[in-house]
Amino acid sequence: MDAEVNDGDFRWVIIGQGLAGTCLAWTLWERGANFVIVDRGTGGSSRMAAGMVNPVTGKNFEPSWRIADFLPEMREFYTTVELRLGRKLWHPLPVLRLAGSAKEWRKITSKLECPVGSPWSAVEVPAPDGWVGAVAVQGGGRLDTQAFLDGSREFFTQHGRYQLGEFSSSGKLGEIRCEGAAGLLTGDYGPHRCAKGEILTIRATGWDQSHIRIGAGGWLVPQGGGVFKVGSTYEWHDLDELPTAGGRVRIEEIASRLGGAAFEVIGHDAAVRPILRRSQPLIGPLEGGGWLFNALGSKGTLYAPGMARRLARWLLDGAEPEPEVDFRVFLAHARQDDSR
Ligand SMILES: Cc1cc2nc3c(=O)[nH]c(=O)nc-3n(C[C@H](O)[C@H](O)[C@H](O)COP(=O)(O)OP(=O)(O)OC[C@H]3O[C@@H](n4cnc5c(N)ncnc54)[C@H](O)[C@@H]3O)c2cc1C
Repeated sequence: MDAEVNDGDFRWVIIGQGLAGTCLAWTLWERGANFVIVDRGTGGSSRMAAGMVNPVTGKNFEPSWRIADFLPEMREFYTTVELRLGRKLWHPLPVLRLAGSAKEWRKITSKLECPVGSPWSAVEVPAPDGWVGAVAVQGGGRLDTQAFLDGSREFFTQHGRYQLGEFSSSGKLGEIRCEGAAGLLTGDYGPHRCAKGEILTIRATGWDQSHIRIGAGGWLVPQGGGVFKVGSTYEWHDLDELPTAGGRVRIEEIASRLGGAAFEVIGHDAAVRPILRRSQPLIGPLEGGGWLFNALGSKGTLYAPGMARRLARWLLDGAEPEPEVDFRVFLAHARQDDSR
């Protein structure tokens, strides 16, 4: 079905209701702007993501890019939407980072000092059996992504701002492309580095639900009521949304290591992370007309609110953001690299 969009009534058309499109819609709503969201209602990575926000990530235990700016902005954003929707969305949770080897532990302990005034902190805690060391990182947590997306869709539907359907471009100035990997995989925005990921939803009784656990190359995120999301895999070749037997085995290993042997798999999903360069999002006008908001990578929960605010200021006030998040700057560098 092609969605019908009346350009006379709606100035901005947000294409895609994942984390990017939904955060932008709330930001435009708060600013009193005229918009409609068009979404195909299936697929995409936000629908199955774990909603985790971990301030210090990766093998190298590095603070996420510009965490001091985006973390406070993110918390404020989700708590404001909670008030609008009358339901809890943001669940602060400490992150237990577990080191499985002496080398990994040395790397982590060499980076425990964080700058004064930082929105996160990390302290050494006793390591559970089978681990060399552990730190508890404060400042992160979990977004109930499903409740955020579903509640927002209901809200905007009630206010006549949501249409279910496939949007095909008319190249109009008011189109804002928040299509996630579905957009990047078309190749319209240059070479991408999208990565498929699989995730299991499991039920386990008696497991610790007070912490997100990170270690063994994966993570375990409590969802409440004895349910956990556990992941994930990275795959750069078969960029589809199909769960695989191999992916399941790999994630079951992570679950066993982080939680224990006894669990029941109640869901298995796959999606593609939208990546242009690491997990650094990009916004900006497109050469053929319209705007882009994409490339949230593995960290859409953290970056979507702050990027939505920057894009709304650009659309409504003409205030350009920092060059490092400007899609035009990214594209110019990519073309320079190509011509070398
Ligand atoms: C396994 C896995 C686990 C993850 N876990 C986390 C996590 O714990 N924390 C975190 O922060 N991030 C996580 N991520 C990353 C996160 O999912 C992404 O950063 C984020 O969801 C991207 O949001 P988006 O809105 O850009 O794209 P999407 O969520 O893909 O949304 C795009 C939307 O646009 C729609 N669409 C596209 N084209 C059209 C069209 N032509 N017409 C109509 N609709 C269209 C799609 O149907 C979709 O609804 C995870 C990703 C994966 C794969």
